[in-house]
Amino acid sequence: MESQKEEIKNKLDIVEVIGEYLKLQKSGTNYQALCPFHKEKTPSFFVSPSRQIWHCFGCNTGGDIFTFVMKIENIDFREALEILAKKAGIKLTYENPQARSQKQKLININKEAAIFFENNLWRNKEVIEYLHRRGLKDETIREFHLGWALDDWRSLSNYLIKKEFKPEEIIANGLAINRREIAEINAKPQAESCKLKDTDLYDRFRSRIIFPLEDQSGNFVGFTARIFQGKNPLKTIKDIERVGKYINTPQTEIFDKGKVLYGLSRTKKNLHMEEAIIVVEGQMDFLALWQEGIRNAVATSGTALTSYHLALLKKYNDNLILGFDMDEAGEKAAEKTIDLVLFKGFNVKILRLPEGKDLAEYLLTDQGKNSIKELIKKSEPIMSFYFERAKKHSDKKTVEGKKTIAAFFLSKIKKLNNALEKAFWLERLSRYLEIPLAALEEELKKISLNNEAYGYNDENEDNLKVINDFLAPFESRAEKIADRLLAFFVKFPKKFELAINYLKYFPSSFQNIIEILKSVSSEKDLAEENLKKLNISDEIINKISLLNLKADYEIEILDKFNVNIDEELKKGLIELKQEMLKKEMEAIGFQIKNLEKSRDNKKIKELLEKFTQLSKELIK
Ligand SMILES: [Zn+2]
Repeated sequence: MESQKEEIKNKLDIVEVIGEYLKLQKSGTNYQALCPFHKEKTPSFFVSPSRQIWHCFGCNTGGDIFTFVMKIENIDFREALEILAKKAGIKLTYENPQARSQKQKLININKEAAIFFENNLWRNKEVIEYLHRRGLKDETIREFHLGWALDDWRSLSNYLIKKEFKPEEIIANGLAINRREIAEINAKPQAESCKLKDTDLYDRFRSRIIFPLEDQSGNFVGFTARIFQGKNPLKTIKDIERVGKYINTPQTEIFDKGKVLYGLSRTKKNLHMEEAIIVVEGQMDFLALWQEGIRNAVATSGTALTSYHLALLKKYNDNLILGFDMDEAGEKAAEKTIDLVLFKGFNVKILRLPEGKDLAEYLLTDQGKNSIKELIKKSEPIMSFYFERAKKHSDKKTVEGKKTIAAFFLSKIKKLNNALEKAFWLERLSRYLEIPLAALEEELKKISLNNEAYGYNDENEDNLKVINDFLAPFESRAEKIADRLLAFFVKFPKKFELAINYLKYFPSSFQNIIEILKSVSSEKDLAEENLKKLNISDEIINKISLLNLKADYEIEILDKFNVNIDEELKKGLIELKQEMLKKEMEAIGFQIKNLEKSRDNKKIKELLEKFTQLSKELIK
């Protein structure tokens, strides 16, 4: 596959590929555009035809044609490979046409079924009226192709068979159930040669409101079906529980409820530009938000958020607002989800509705409609949510109560990464419980934090690898400064002498490029052919390419503001030095604090000397 990837890369021109998605403008030897992956007014998205790479200096993402297509289409590598192979006129060797056509067939069945359901719906006034009462407008019902499954055992199966789909296919797609299989569940297993007859099928969805579920590309991959009781309501809650208020398409070759997010195909293009992604439970909540013009939501369908969902969402945004039902059971479930979401590195807020109302219901009221955007803006930070929950856990007037509350909330504090935030919440807890801060700190130390504490086992972790591979790596401020400086030095190797006294301040990950810069005297020495001759690794050559592109971008900005490059470089070097010294001093401060208990005075004295020396260097 690797060689085919190269073959495709050689055949296609990056400017042409990206040009199909974005309006590229020539700028020197490169092209630029407004970045499609973050909100911006001046272009920081660059494409280099000579190096066949792209990079956005605003959101710091980049790569080749594959990463671009993956990101803009929100697809995985394999799918990008298929799209680009087609464009390049290359036949992929691994592709199994049979499996492909089977998948397409299942999607086609769903498409037909959706049409059937949708036509039924518009003939059923009672259901339409019900949907209106629940706040849905006709345009929304049409836009999302809501449907109605007749109160009948075989109408859909008959319809699909008339459309020349085979009974086996209809069953494989989860739309019908094999009657014989159920009858014979306790008898002998069905012989393979035994052909299914049309009359062996019965419809899975009967007398239900249908919500088609789309994958990210908008294909109908499955359905959620909500019970509708109409004129013959089921008598008791037990009856409803027996048949299920909501049922989904079972797992099929194209459907997995743990991977589908309702609405994602419609809102994905907005998600990276919004402050956060709103995650709600169920189609009705999603549609209610949609009708209020809120275009940055997605919904789960009959399942909690999975690791797969989160990896998917992480591609678009690091911030989530959870709009879950917050009754007691809801809060408990939310807590589990929140732990997973935090574990996956998201910032989380909670959307709080007055009196724990259900979102879709709340949006039926004028008050709800008028205040929802404000409420979303004022979503509660996760720690305040936990603090409120902790208070409810027990009575703070008793010792036992204090202990219970502290145990719950301290375990949440422990998971915070930011020391200031930790201190803030410890202080609040201390005041609330009227327990000295030191005692709580002592307790906090006892709580061990390991991944098992989160209680997840990620069966899908392998699947996620592809997705996670392109989450941007964390970059410290020092690294950012160093990166920018090296860009200029790669572009103008002669200016490198300005940096001679600062080399030790460059983070270690940049030292290999510094070594190269030490040995070159002109820009030509850094040409790719030259570097290859010197046996420099591809990784470093790519890094130099990217630095070159970054320099073009930086120079353009400096020119615009008439800034002298040498002055800018000198300033940057000093900044880098200060940043690195501060970091080192911070680390020493931390060590000293840790040693204070051990009373290792000799070591402490040593560190203090080092600290003083660094602080002198800092102001030099
Ligand atoms: Zn960007």
